[in-house]
Amino acid sequence: MHRLYENNEIVIFWNSDKCFHSTKCIQASPKTFDVNRKPWIQLGNASNPEIWHAVEQCPSGALGILYRHGINTRMEPENCRSVAYDGDKLIGECDYRETESGWCIYHTEVDPEYGGKGIAKRLVYSILEEGERKGIKITSTCSYASKVLAE
Ligand code: SF4
Repeated sequence: MHRLYENNEIVIFWNSDKCFHSTKCIQASPKTFDVNRKPWIQLGNASNPEIWHAVEQCPSGALGILYRHGINTRMEPENCRSVAYDGDKLIGECDYRETESGWCIYHTEVDPEYGGKGIAKRLVYSILEEGERKGIKITSTCSYASKVLAE
């Protein structure tokens, strides 16, 4: 299971397949990470430095964290893609095809000017999260998305 959590400044990635419940994150920021709550990760109850520190304690790589850099990402299901915007400017997209067996991601691209900010990963995660919530199998022929899927 892949999930994204965002506030105005940061974005957290969580891959449940890699989480072995060490509880390091919970110990470091109990108001952010609480398995007795849904969603179990909630940003806004602790400072961003505390959250950042807590993510860094994760021994498994299940958690990741990046700055948002003011970039918004969202699903655009009518166009079978997730998109990234800097204000009104489209700066990235991740495209998938609907097939008989599920969704197949075939293309991920971010404006090179915005490279190195983790935007492509956010785009792929958006599709993974949306598909998983709907019980749709996700595959990939896009080399970048395949890398994220294999992480
Ligand atoms: S620190 Fe990482 S492995 Fe441990 S519970 Fe949190 S997410 Fe899971």
